[in-house]
Amino acid sequence: MVTLSYNYFLNRGVIMIFDSNKILNLLTGIVAEIDLKNKIIRVAYQDGKEICSNMNGGDFLNLIFTKNNVKRSLVSLDEITNWLFNSREDAIMCFDYEDEANEKSRIRMNKTYDAENNIALCLIKKLDKEYLYSINDPMTNLYQKETFSSLVADALVNAKNRPFYFLIIDIDDFKRVNDQHGHLFGDKVIKDIANLLKTEFKNGYVCRYGGDEFSVLSFDSVEYDAVWKKLHDVCGKVRKMKEEKYPNCDVSITIGCSRFGIDGEEYTELFLKADKALYRGKSKGKNCFIIYNEELHKNISVNYTVDERSYLNNTTICLQLFVDLYDVLSRKYRFETTLSKITEIFGRFFIVDRALIFLRNDSDEYDLAASYVNPTIEHCSLNYVEKKMTNLSMWDEHIVNDNCQMSYVGNIENINPKLYEYLLKQNIISVYLVPLKKDRKVVGYLRLDTCKDKRKWTIKEGEIITQAAKMVGIFIARALTK
Ligand code: GH3
Ligand code: MG
Repeated sequence: MVTLSYNYFLNRGVIMIFDSNKILNLLTGIVAEIDLKNKIIRVAYQDGKEICSNMNGGDFLNLIFTKNNVKRSLVSLDEITNWLFNSREDAIMCFDYEDEANEKSRIRMNKTYDAENNIALCLIKKLDKEYLYSINDPMTNLYQKETFSSLVADALVNAKNRPFYFLIIDIDDFKRVNDQHGHLFGDKVIKDIANLLKTEFKNGYVCRYGGDEFSVLSFDSVEYDAVWKKLHDVCGKVRKMKEEKYPNCDVSITIGCSRFGIDGEEYTELFLKADKALYRGKSKGKNCFIIYNEELHKNISVNYTVDERSYLNNTTICLQLFVDLYDVLSRKYRFETTLSKITEIFGRFFIVDRALIFLRNDSDEYDLAASYVNPTIEHCSLNYVEKKMTNLSMWDEHIVNDNCQMSYVGNIENINPKLYEYLLKQNIISVYLVPLKKDRKVVGYLRLDTCKDKRKWTIKEGEIITQAAKMVGIFIARALTK
């Protein structure tokens, strides 16, 4: 048997794994060496101390569960064991569980293999509350749509083996609920429905898509009868909740459903079809569920009013940005490489001439750390870029979002002369400056420069950048504290 030591980790390049996974935040990391041939855990360490050796998968999971206070795992033990010993492709697995206090938590496991694929090293850690909080909707503690999109993207990779159905759920006449009973009451209804959905769809993901709308990915059977029964049950439970909790207020939901493999194999298609089904349910009289049926529903055109439904466009577009970022942040690149890939993702996604990341130095100035430059435009070359950002107060009057101190200059004419000079020198015509933060602490800036034409950014684009910058900020903060 090989006894693990930190030297051993070093030799095997495992320090790299630690490094690249700072984003995932180490809490009490357990590192296990897995013998894939004999399907045993050869040895596992926690904080440098051996916690077990030559253990089978079941016992090992029990050990992890005890150490993390797991009362009930929301993913079956078989599935986790199977991942530990068999899966060669998925380098990351997460599973949610409830602890003794019925709080939901998540454990994330990362695996890497030796050259012969005989041995895997697996890093197992609980994601801390702060991290979970940053990816969940604070009011309901459900996933937010960006996280949900990544989870759907993950599920799609393996969907042939593990199909799922997809739901869009909208509370009926919620404006009236708010009008008649007040917003606080409305909030309570949202939370109650969120909790009900969380309980009902344990074998999947529940997301607060926005406002009074939820989406669900469920790994339960996609057979028509099984889905029908499940949705029938859920609607029934909402009706029962209404009777018991709000006898004086009509609270109901409408559900639109589409199924992987039957209605589509891509997120956008599944989303659109579930939305058509929802639309049908609403026009039919609400308080019901509709499972998409190509014959009956293909001609439904979902009439989005731009404001209410513009998220549809965003979802489709956003998905790729977040999937790309997620992908880069969870890989084992060197820190500098990750940063430069991030700038490229932003640069290409938002079609800017330069995307730059500046990192805070000890004197509270910001140094250029990574860049993407549009190679086709000569005068945006990196040579023009000031490598240090100082005098940040220059930007103050251009802040467009107080919460995250994001600044935007659409057109450099007629601005404060100091900032004008600074931007002109770098051939910038329009620019977005976005702080990269963890909590309140600014660790760097992302700057998106346009050097050729003026550019008017939309509020939606600003929102997308804010969300994406959040992810990057957390990653950088964690990488720098190591
Ligand atoms: P429909 O049956 O067609 O869905 O009608 P509706 O009135 O529910 O229409 P819609 O779904 O478009 O309205 C959603 C309303 O939800 C609008 C908004 O005022 C309210 N809302 C959005 N977010 C919140 C929230 O966090 N709390 C409360 N109380 N209300 C919210
Ligand atoms: Mg509604």
